[in-house]
Amino acid sequence: MILENGVIRTLDPALPSARSLAIAGDRIAGGVGVHETALASPDVVDLGGRAVLPGFTDAHVHFPTWAAVQRDVKLEGCASKAEALDRVRRAERHGRWLRGHGWRDADWPDGNPTRHDLDEAVPDRPAMLVSKDYHALWLNSAALALAGGDLEVPGGVVVRDEAGEPTGLLYEESAWHFKNRHAVIPADEYVEAMRHGLRLANERGVVALHDKDGWLGAVGLWERLEQQQSLTARVWQSAPAETLPQLREVGLRSGLGSPLLRLGYLKTFMDGTLGSQTAWMLDGSGVVITSSDQLEEIVRAAAEAGWPVGVHAIGDAANRAALDAFERSRDVWEPRGLRQRIEHAQCLAPEDVARFAELGVAASVQFSHAPSDEHLAKRFWPDTLDGAYSFRSLLESGAVLANGSDAPVEELDPWAGVVAAVLGHWREDQRLTVAEALHAVCVAPTWLSYDERVRGTLVPGRYADLVVLDRDPFSVEPGELPDVRVVATMLAGRWVHNPPPWD
Ligand SMILES: [Zn+2]
Repeated sequence: MILENGVIRTLDPALPSARSLAIAGDRIAGGVGVHETALASPDVVDLGGRAVLPGFTDAHVHFPTWAAVQRDVKLEGCASKAEALDRVRRAERHGRWLRGHGWRDADWPDGNPTRHDLDEAVPDRPAMLVSKDYHALWLNSAALALAGGDLEVPGGVVVRDEAGEPTGLLYEESAWHFKNRHAVIPADEYVEAMRHGLRLANERGVVALHDKDGWLGAVGLWERLEQQQSLTARVWQSAPAETLPQLREVGLRSGLGSPLLRLGYLKTFMDGTLGSQTAWMLDGSGVVITSSDQLEEIVRAAAEAGWPVGVHAIGDAANRAALDAFERSRDVWEPRGLRQRIEHAQCLAPEDVARFAELGVAASVQFSHAPSDEHLAKRFWPDTLDGAYSFRSLLESGAVLANGSDAPVEELDPWAGVVAAVLGHWREDQRLTVAEALHAVCVAPTWLSYDERVRGTLVPGRYADLVVLDRDPFSVEPGELPDVRVVATMLAGRWVHNPPPWD
């Protein structure tokens, strides 16, 4: 196949752009920039002036969770109970349950939700609607019946009517108890949701993802999709650090798998989050989930078993403790060539920024968090704003900077991340160029998944994992960047979104 009459942005410094690209089988063929006449009657695709780039990677996504949520009825912004019920009534039905989220009844003029309202809208199956703050459930009678009275737990609230019957509202621990016990999503439904989610991801140019959900059961779900030929992205799967003993016992280590699905890294947490004020800060505030010494132990044990570690660190103290642990354990992991990562790296003490590059620890950041967390950061971190979302400082110090969405926290949309990094950062000195942001989306994540020699740039011999954009992001005015659209996506030489011709 030859893609011609467009702009090929290879992201390879040796030959940054070309006018055509040849693809043979699942790889980019020799002769980027020249027509490959040796190929027998190749398919010629007219790009019509569009741009081709390496496909996008989302380096931090809770994919099964995000995929399942995509099928929920969305109740955000409902001004009344009637409006919420109307959305529920009109929703497509998938699987055994009707699920939804996002309602907030504080200002509803027509009263609190009850199971009777929901029974009328969903008479045929259990229904569970999660509130916007994730602290309450609104259930119908069919859902309540599944619990068989198993509702009361310490720390929970079950709202009851005058007769003592549950009204369908559960709060706090009762809500979680119900959800985890009686409303578990069956594997079949997860697989369906993930198949649908992969299509959405492909539409947004995604060809690879580093899955941060990390439950081991997800591997089996991905495998089913792969067997059904529906795994249309490369998956680098995480696993909880606590599972290391089991993984070691059966001899599983990072890198095992197929070209599409591989075991990746162990995940653990140093601290909480900015929004809930549980980020571990140098001023002494926040929550310590894992100490520096504990992380050092985890990193050493993981390294000996052949696993790199991805550690969640939001606060400046959490990041320092993580860097310290990687530094002290360097003798074990560095000789093994392990590629360690800190997830988020959201607030850094200025003197810690250069340590990422010095140690060779990647910063796995979320470009979209910079604009969307602006008001929270200004409110909770007024004295440490100089260290927040230090994308440019990290890059200039030589660190590997990879971007992920953290979906479902943000939308799974790598291009939105690029736009956020180039235009949306309130610290203007930390904004990136289009080339730098795209590097974090296309190239840097492949270093973390050890496949930088087979993909990530459009160079002969590499996998033909690419995205077609409606215009060349390197030549448009900055103000036009938010309008750039993904036209088509290819994984290993096969179109996985919108095959040509395009009009
Ligand atoms: Zn996350």
